[in-house]
Amino acid sequence: MAEFLKLKKSNCKNCYKCIRHCPVKSIRFSGNQANIIADECILCGQCFVVCPQDAKEIADSTERVKYFIESGEKVYASLAPSFVANYDGVGIESITSALKKLGFAGAEETAVGATIVKTEYERLVREDKRDIIISSCCNSVNLLIQKHYPEALPYLADVLSPMQAHCQDLKKRYPGCKTVFIGPCVSKKEEAARYADYTDDVLTFEELTTWFKEAGITLEKNMART
Ligand code: SF4
Ligand code: SF4
Repeated sequence: MAEFLKLKKSNCKNCYKCIRHCPVKSIRFSGNQANIIADECILCGQCFVVCPQDAKEIADSTERVKYFIESGEKVYASLAPSFVANYDGVGIESITSALKKLGFAGAEETAVGATIVKTEYERLVREDKRDIIISSCCNSVNLLIQKHYPEALPYLADVLSPMQAHCQDLKKRYPGCKTVFIGPCVSKKEEAARYADYTDDVLTFEELTTWFKEAGITLEKNMART
């Protein structure tokens, strides 16, 4: 697995907090450093949240997305609904306007994909062929099952995630475009890399915020519809 979450060695102070909080115990100490075992990690982000030394580093996709834009690609953003919690008082019109200033061709909420996915789940329930269906929307849950509970794989729904469904839909409507999912979760970077036909890359809200700051772009609150 590519390194989506790694340790900045100089920052680790051996407090063992990450080990205590890792739900699948995929962090080991060697050479007085905490190390993530990539084959076991489910990219839940807990170790990142609890580390008092800010020693965990998330792979940054900003330069790659900038490269898409600078190369003249039409780049569309799929925005996780939680952007409203991350950017208080900022609506879809305002954030779309700011993304266009960065060079994006457009932006839509990932809810478009959720609507497509909902129809698929309704079909699965209607068919009534399974007693148990585990939703495949959360990539960390998918990784948890694949890496730690493979016996539950038959229950995992064979349905695209809202991110994949939305990006697939964007690519149908804007042939040849690049798609970038923007959300809170590092796990989506792994999902995008694994299903590269749908989502070309993923930015976290932190990456986007840093990019807005660098570009001197301020998000307008509650921008009126035009
Ligand atoms: S929580 Fe951070 S500082 Fe503590 S052991 Fe883990 S990586 Fe090192
Ligand atoms: S991201 Fe989650 S699963 Fe991976 S090492 Fe950190 S706490 Fe453990």
